[in-house]
Amino acid sequence: MSSKSHQQKQAVVGIVGGGLVGALNAIYFAQRGWKVELYELRPDMRLPVHRESRRGKSINLALSERGLSALRGTGLNLEKTILEASVPMKARMVHIGKNGTQMSQAYDVNGQHINAVDRARLNELLLDEAESLANVTVYFEHRLLSADFDNNSVEFMTSEGKKTYKNDFIIGADGAYSKTRTQMMRCMRMDYNQQYIDTGYCELSMPPAVGPDGKPTFALDPNHLHIWPRHTFMLIALPNPDFSFTCTLFMPFQMFEDIKTEDQLMSFFQEHFNDSIPLIGEAALKSDFFGNPRGSLVTVKASPHNYKDKSIIIGDAAHAMVPFYGQGMNCGFQDVEVLHQILDQHNIQPHVNNEGVIDGLEKALNDYSNTRVKDAHAICDLAMYNYYEMRHAVTSYKFLARKKLEGA
Ligand code: FAD
Repeated sequence: MSSKSHQQKQAVVGIVGGGLVGALNAIYFAQRGWKVELYELRPDMRLPVHRESRRGKSINLALSERGLSALRGTGLNLEKTILEASVPMKARMVHIGKNGTQMSQAYDVNGQHINAVDRARLNELLLDEAESLANVTVYFEHRLLSADFDNNSVEFMTSEGKKTYKNDFIIGADGAYSKTRTQMMRCMRMDYNQQYIDTGYCELSMPPAVGPDGKPTFALDPNHLHIWPRHTFMLIALPNPDFSFTCTLFMPFQMFEDIKTEDQLMSFFQEHFNDSIPLIGEAALKSDFFGNPRGSLVTVKASPHNYKDKSIIIGDAAHAMVPFYGQGMNCGFQDVEVLHQILDQHNIQPHVNNEGVIDGLEKALNDYSNTRVKDAHAICDLAMYNYYEMRHAVTSYKFLARKKLEGA
């Protein structure tokens, strides 16, 4: 070993947020020889006691090639494992009129498709893989309170009171309402824009149907993302491997508020989504609609994504987007892939030099921000546009005629 390597200490990266993006990033850093500390606000979701109600929290997600590529980049079996438990969605099925007419619109002439995956299962799988690596420590029930980036210090509220940790580099993967981001904004000139839309969402569950052989089966064609577009609002349904569908009703908050009674709800569904009623079931529809939370939808844009060589934000912390393009998680996974491509290009080593600096890191992170910010902003805008497309444009005469010409 050279005298230089004697003087070097292994670099510690602190990742705030053990959600989808933070957990994947922990794997990437650990594979490159960093010591990784992953801090997650919630208790360990894998423990049976915490597998309680996940109702109303976007139970499944569309995983696309953008996200799959990042999973593949770990060189682990992640892609295969998660795809085995997914349902491929090759097209969208538009439920056009009141009589239940359906029209299939393929996503790609060459058969490329998206996959419905279970959010919790994917998160658990990533946490399992991260924790299996010797250089990763996961701290649950750690809520970031404050960060002093210039002194490499982060403070958390834990079940045992406040705790402070020292990390050489801090990553905020703590979601749309990122505390890491707000701490960075205190010490740098970060442009920041947050925009809510007046549409909210509520999840409804469509149980398996019973097939002619008495076995459970899907109530709708499983290889489609189903949409009931109604111009200013819509219902969608994504399949789950257990033969159920998770439906999401997107509509203006005022419309949610106007439906106060079960009779009003049933009249609304009979008017707009009549074919879905027997599939969801009247009792379940009423209990989900009045029992499940209404989520709000926000776009977050920030620039730049890094503060010197001290910290960076990724995933929703850097670019939350409305869910209509199905790319929020996929884009966050791609952040991880792109970040590590850039760190590799800059030959960043997981060592801290005598001055307490990770050589070349600041330039690499500046490169990352310069590359990624404009892509992140573009995908946020595309996601917003796709809301219009899904709830309205797919029903337009021109759109349907074009699809007919394409043979869809
Ligand atoms: P999050 O999933 O928000 O995870 C952040 C983590 O940080 C959480 O575990 C949280 O507990 C933790 N945390 C927060 N604050 C702190 C703190 N102070 N200290 C420590 N930890 C903290 N994307 C897709 O790609 N495809 C889809 O089909 C899709 N559908 C969606 C449907 C809906 C209804 C919604 C709302 C979103 C959808 N998305 C979809 C977007 C996707 O959910 C997000 O982009 C993705 O969850 C972002 O992952 P993340 O890890 O960056 O953030």
